[in-house]
Amino acid sequence: MSTTTHKKVLLYSGGMDSWLIDKIWKPDVKLYIDMNTQYSKEEIARLPHDVVVEKLDLGKWERSDKIIPLRNLFLVALATNYGDEICLGATAGDRVLDKSYGFKERAEELLDFLYQKQHWTNERKITINLDFKQYTKTALLRMFIAQGGNIADAFNHSFSCYAPEHGHECWACKPCFRKFVSFALNGYEFPEHIVTKCTDYILSEIYPDIIAGRYGRADEEKEIVQVLRMYHKI
Ligand SMILES: [Zn+2]
Repeated sequence: MSTTTHKKVLLYSGGMDSWLIDKIWKPDVKLYIDMNTQYSKEEIARLPHDVVVEKLDLGKWERSDKIIPLRNLFLVALATNYGDEICLGATAGDRVLDKSYGFKERAEELLDFLYQKQHWTNERKITINLDFKQYTKTALLRMFIAQGGNIADAFNHSFSCYAPEHGHECWACKPCFRKFVSFALNGYEFPEHIVTKCTDYILSEIYPDIIAGRYGRADEEKEIVQVLRMYHKI
């Protein structure tokens, strides 16, 4: 498939990371892989129209903590059908090994081995792009705004809630609180009831781990603490 050569593919989740990376990195193909998880229907309903949707039923192996073992190994393999440079949309908060630099190195080596010139294919060199892993969501949003992006636009087009209530974000789950932190630190004005609900969630579910040194995401921790101070919660 020579049409895939040199194309940039963004693995699109529908969350704010992929929305922002699309605007900043400008991929040729945005690929959403429907893994048939609890929240994939909500995500698909909100995808921009130019996102390609593929199916891969990994949802049956989803654990209660939302981890799907080896998720990105499957996704990268599928994405090679669309292009040679594949961006995982990883950001600084991601701790799983299948979004790490070690994974990038090993997966590229494996894919180069499998895509060497042989009876069914010419040689292909696959690159896994982790350029955005050095940035927090807050920093990504700041980059988007700095290049002329509209914060309300980013807010309305990013959705990655684990437990939507009648199609709205719950503001009491991991993706919701991360979105809250990054928008609050970029000056977005939240209504009082969302501030209360989300800071209550952070104080009961996240902050104790930060205090105990168990949270393990240095840059993000600073931002969380900064937000709690901003709203006078600590
Ligand atoms: Zn939520």
